[in-house]
Amino acid sequence: MRVAVFSTKPYDRQYLSEANAAFGHDLVFFEPKLDLSTAPLADGFPAVCVFVNDKLDRPLLTHLASTGTRLVALRCAGFNNVDLPAAAELGIDVVRVPAYSPHAVAEFTVALLLALDRRIPRAWARVRDNNFALDGLIGNDLFGKTVGVIGTGRIGALVARCLKLGFGCRVLAHDQWEDPALVEIGIEYRPPGEIVAAADILTLHCPLTPETHHLVNAEAIARARPGFLLVNTSRGALIDAEALVEGLKSGQVGGVALDVYEQEADLFFEDLSSEIIQDDVFQRLLTFPNVLVTGHQAFLTAEALSAISVTTLRNIAAAEAGGELENGVVAEMVSAVRQRNGHD
Ligand code: NAD
Repeated sequence: MRVAVFSTKPYDRQYLSEANAAFGHDLVFFEPKLDLSTAPLADGFPAVCVFVNDKLDRPLLTHLASTGTRLVALRCAGFNNVDLPAAAELGIDVVRVPAYSPHAVAEFTVALLLALDRRIPRAWARVRDNNFALDGLIGNDLFGKTVGVIGTGRIGALVARCLKLGFGCRVLAHDQWEDPALVEIGIEYRPPGEIVAAADILTLHCPLTPETHHLVNAEAIARARPGFLLVNTSRGALIDAEALVEGLKSGQVGGVALDVYEQEADLFFEDLSSEIIQDDVFQRLLTFPNVLVTGHQAFLTAEALSAISVTTLRNIAAAEAGGELENGVVAEMVSAVRQRNGHD
């Protein structure tokens, strides 16, 4: 199939080209994000392939449909960036990569937590400057701490398991569905309010939905334990960043590690080192000594890039063949709801 592949970096092109040897799609790589100004690049392509920060809203989908696009292949798990009802109305199928390497994201989450708690970036910067003083680098043992895990799907379950079995934390979890395997190892499901009030560390692994938007807001921060640590490798808009800044200023929030940020589409994946960043909230966040930010990097392992490429190309091949879509977003959602309601 002819595919216009947007938001591609050298590593995307490398892994997709290698995997494509087994599929033979006609992949045309474009570096820019897909938006209304770049959409004409996709004119006449039956498929477009996009990533997390390509916003496929109704006007963009309408343009794509009018120039012959029938398939949107997401190279990611989350699909909050696509107007699914609009896609369905316009006859555009949407496929995604539901799981590539949950280990990549789970391991990065734990790495961020350790780096934040033990001040590793500060320590590294000091040592580079021949400053071997330890003042200001005091961390806390993870052993015995209470960790709240919001969302125990593929990634959250691995994080919960690692912190419980690997570090000896008490793990409280919240999800719409309890995972019996986690209950079996002593992970305790609790209502979110109870978790927020009890957790020394809160880590977010639920998807971004209208219900989870700004899940961590001023009210939640006020109810939390003073000095709690917050980690978010899920989606930026789970946190109200302005409320977070206030929480950090007052000391109510003891530290934050973010791999995602609500307004990241204007920032992440690009080298802006010579630019003036206009996002004052983001810039304020970066000034705190107890804030650690990475640029949506948690997925970035060789294994994950390989798996993303293979699944994306297979999804495209299945769509080209006709018949049932593989990893079709709408179909997948309906079938998940039916399964969870006991229909099949
Ligand atoms: P998943 O679908 O396997 O798990 C998500 C879980 O959240 C599910 O068990 C679901 O029931 C639960 N959930 C839904 N609404 C909830 C709510 N209101 N409260 C609590 N739980 C709720 O997804 P996953 O693969 O584990 O991914 C989790 C998140 O990580 C997604 O948002 C995804 O976009 C993000 N992600 C980030 C990166 C990165 O590089 N930073 C990479 C991959 C995935």
